[in-house]
Amino acid sequence: MRQLSQIPPIEKLLNLPEIEAYFTLLSRTIVAEIVKTQVKEYRNELVQTNQSVDITLLLDKILVKLAYQNKIRIQPIINATGIVVHTNLGRSPLPKAIWQEVGDIVCNYSNLELNLLNGKRGNRMGLLNQVLQAYFGGESSIIVNNNAAALHLILKTFAEGKEVIVSRGEQIQIGGGFRIPDILADSGAILRDVGTTNITTIDDYLNAINDNTAIVLIVHQSNYYIEGFSQHVDIKQLAANLPEHVMLVIDQGSGNHLAAIPSELSVNNYLKIEPDLICFSGDKILGGPQSGIILGKKDKINKLSKHPMMRVLRPGKETYALLEKILIHRLNRDGKADNSVELLINQPLSWHLARAKQLADIAPEKLVLKATKFMVGGGSTPRAQFDTWAISINSNLHTSTLIERLRNNNPPIIGVIQNDQVLLYPVTLSDEELSIVKDYLTILTTEIDF
Ligand SMILES: *Cc1c(COP(=O)(O)O)cnc(C)c1O
Repeated sequence: MRQLSQIPPIEKLLNLPEIEAYFTLLSRTIVAEIVKTQVKEYRNELVQTNQSVDITLLLDKILVKLAYQNKIRIQPIINATGIVVHTNLGRSPLPKAIWQEVGDIVCNYSNLELNLLNGKRGNRMGLLNQVLQAYFGGESSIIVNNNAAALHLILKTFAEGKEVIVSRGEQIQIGGGFRIPDILADSGAILRDVGTTNITTIDDYLNAINDNTAIVLIVHQSNYYIEGFSQHVDIKQLAANLPEHVMLVIDQGSGNHLAAIPSELSVNNYLKIEPDLICFSGDKILGGPQSGIILGKKDKINKLSKHPMMRVLRPGKETYALLEKILIHRLNRDGKADNSVELLINQPLSWHLARAKQLADIAPEKLVLKATKFMVGGGSTPRAQFDTWAISINSNLHTSTLIERLRNNNPPIIGVIQNDQVLLYPVTLSDEELSIVKDYLTILTTEIDF
């Protein structure tokens, strides 16, 4: 016989240690809400089925819901995917030492918009303008919330109602729904596509120019490349041939610095061509906070900074502070804010092998060393691949079950399935993360059904 009165009161359930443990993770309010809903559903179920109260079953239901909520909470994960800059995994991790330095600024009042020399209203860019110039080049700079915003602001400021010429080979989609033609349309600019998918020549660009042309836009191909019979224009030569009224704008995407990946076009090299403007993300290869960085000619940057949209797109103080600090430490080469992409691609292969071996040695028949390549990701071309060693996990478990098991660890371990095998790439793991993965694999490989 059901006795609904046997169900403990909500307050009593909330005091159970296994439920209370979720207060700090989810808040007492959300936990209480979940407990109430589950109790209510359980009551209805009992009434309908005429079963007796089973407290353990009720607790299970509550704990399953809490665990579910806990998964959607933002939290650190272990990136064993072999992709260094992974948009789904928060792109670049920030250097901890810099985060602490910046904490002193953002947890206090700051001179974000106060000129300490004269006590008047100041400019958010402050020293950052000079720091960006010292690191990349260019005359002047401005930053917005991300690179999509940067491109949008540029197009809206200089090309609303005017034509923007883009090569057909550069009309790309990046990740979740960022399409060059869509951004263009939304900003009010008119897309004028030229050339073909594989070949666009200087004449293609020059012949398309008319009085209503505002910009020639060069888009870094980011996540793909064309192999075989293809040809890119010599941008320097193109720049030299553009009429006075047409601006050269480059969406460089990755923020690659000359030293980080020498084989990829860098912001520094593009700036030598003296484009009117160049924009890129702050949290891809540069390794900073989410931001869109625009560098270029002073008069053009001034115009951007005065556009009403700038107020809509401007970042918070954390972003200015983080970028300034990271780049100062980079310029000083003091090791506090090293570029992780640069560090990883310069490690000898023996370093990569030694790390993978630490994992394989746990159970050599089940954890097999695999020579493979890691990718830089984040708006660099797929050609930015470098030799590394991973481990492939030999198990009776189905690959999708195994990948889920890894993901259910605390902290979650994110691996990849390649050629029907689960692979873990130790290249991006810190020493601490490597030992977490080691401990996990030590237990996993001894399980019966493994
Ligand atoms: C990544 C990327 C963008 C979008 O940058 P967000 O910072 O994610 O807004 C735009 N253009 C190119 C070429 C990119 O690679």
